[in-house]
Amino acid sequence: MAGDIEEIKSKADIVQIISERIATKKAGKHYRALCPFHGEKTPSFMISPELQIYKCFGCGEGGDVITFLEKYEGMDFNEAILYLSERTGVKLERGAFQPKKEKEKIVEINALAEKYYHYILQNHSLGKDALLYLKEKRKITVNSIDKFGIGYSPQNQSLFENFFIKKKGIKQDDLVRSGICYERYGKCFDRFAGRIIFPLYDHRGNPVGFSGRLMPGVDRDAGKYINTPDTPAYHKSELLFGLNFVKDDIKKEGYAIITEGELDMISPWQRGVRNVIAIKGSALTDAHARLLSRFTQNLTLALDSDFAGNTAAKRGIETVQSMGFKVKVARLGKYKDPDEMAVDDIKKFSKSLSDAVPVYDFIIDSAFEKYDSEKIDGKVDISKEVVPFLSKINDEILKAYYVGLLSKKLQVPYDSVYAEVEKSKIGRITREDIKEERVRTDGKRELIEETLLLLTILRSAQEAGELKRYIKSIFAKRVLEELISYIKVKEFNVKLFADNLPTELKEKFREKYIANSIAYERSGDEKMANETEDLKRKLELIDISESQKGLIAKIKESESRGDKKDVKTLQKKLNELVDVKSKYFKPD
Ligand SMILES: [Zn+2]
Repeated sequence: MAGDIEEIKSKADIVQIISERIATKKAGKHYRALCPFHGEKTPSFMISPELQIYKCFGCGEGGDVITFLEKYEGMDFNEAILYLSERTGVKLERGAFQPKKEKEKIVEINALAEKYYHYILQNHSLGKDALLYLKEKRKITVNSIDKFGIGYSPQNQSLFENFFIKKKGIKQDDLVRSGICYERYGKCFDRFAGRIIFPLYDHRGNPVGFSGRLMPGVDRDAGKYINTPDTPAYHKSELLFGLNFVKDDIKKEGYAIITEGELDMISPWQRGVRNVIAIKGSALTDAHARLLSRFTQNLTLALDSDFAGNTAAKRGIETVQSMGFKVKVARLGKYKDPDEMAVDDIKKFSKSLSDAVPVYDFIIDSAFEKYDSEKIDGKVDISKEVVPFLSKINDEILKAYYVGLLSKKLQVPYDSVYAEVEKSKIGRITREDIKEERVRTDGKRELIEETLLLLTILRSAQEAGELKRYIKSIFAKRVLEELISYIKVKEFNVKLFADNLPTELKEKFREKYIANSIAYERSGDEKMANETEDLKRKLELIDISESQKGLIAKIKESESRGDKKDVKTLQKKLNELVDVKSKYFKPD
């Protein structure tokens, strides 16, 4: 089987697979794109046709075609292999492949459950009240009920058992694992009994779970809404309700409207506002943002009217902002949620979207509504609420604008507000900080050695042997050793070489290779040869400086011991070194 996978990987062209999903652009021998895994404005996502890998120099994501499908499409390893085997026509040996994964099994059970619930709602007498409620009270059309696969789970336990266990032969354990059921006293109970069912699809349209809204009048001591618990197929923090239906609408409109609940999504949708999705709960997560960034960088929040007081919601906004999203907020006025507003007056809802204000204005306004800005306590409270948001603005001009706005509204000096904003920044370590730190602590020698090694590989790997005396740092030395033994037995091929490197060297090598081949792409042979000599000379100089330092330390030691003879010998050596060093600075 391992052979099959290698064959599939080598036949699947990573450039093509990625380019079908995101816009890529050829740049020299690489392809460049805006990273689909983090928000960015200038492309740092590189695809190397040569190595058949991708690497983002912004967020660090990287891997081969299978990793990409796993991360981008949410496929598991098996799904990715099956998908690629179909694409490439490489047949997988029958039976050699693993049995269906847990996730697929759950999706299958869910698909069945979806049909069952939907049938009950539309055709069964037990679903009549729920159907009436949806159509009359909630103004949901039959078209929407079909489109979103809405259903109803009756409180009749035997109906459930007959269908799933007796008729369809599904094992109780599997029903429990899918989350549709829970187990009590060895028996299986319908988790969603008495609820209107909204299937939850992943962005590819697989039913991964359900959300159940209690029918009014049904007495149960559980929440109005419950969801499938997290399973291998369903992760609450990743799901965006409706996304599978409106991906293209979001791209077309250039932004996504974020709401909180299923009906907040469906109501505007069936009235023609299509680029709308719902998060499960009030907080946007990292995973939501990564998924959304494939479709847009612009979000308009249409959340329940009390969201400004919600810490989780605020944290969510900070998250997406720090990932480069532009966030606006629609004001719903007297309405408690988008559903209520859309049902009452869809034009008003559309207008609230076009009038949406940048999130900072919204935060400032809500704080001023909440506290009395005439009183000193009120000013402090307002500042406490607003400042953390402003401190996360990366654009200095934008930041200065809002600091100015806040100081004017609070009637306090600009500098004091600015100082508060800066103070709030301290203590937060960003990815940028870490990156910078890494650059700073990367030894100079290490970096030069690595560049020398990669440059040699780019020019002519066969000459690797000549580097032995220059390379001393751990990573470069180990790669060099691997390289020397590789070229002894076969002709150099960078992909095969990289693929066969020990795991701990592989990723760093690939990263360095791509970075250096981009850096030297436009350099001709001569320039690269000169650069090579230059780097060698730099390393020699570093060597000399290090020996010098060692000698000086020894001299000091001998002096303190009063060993004049020793001092003299050492001094002579030191002078010789100075001579050698000075030669490096003479013009040739
Ligand atoms: Zn990235």
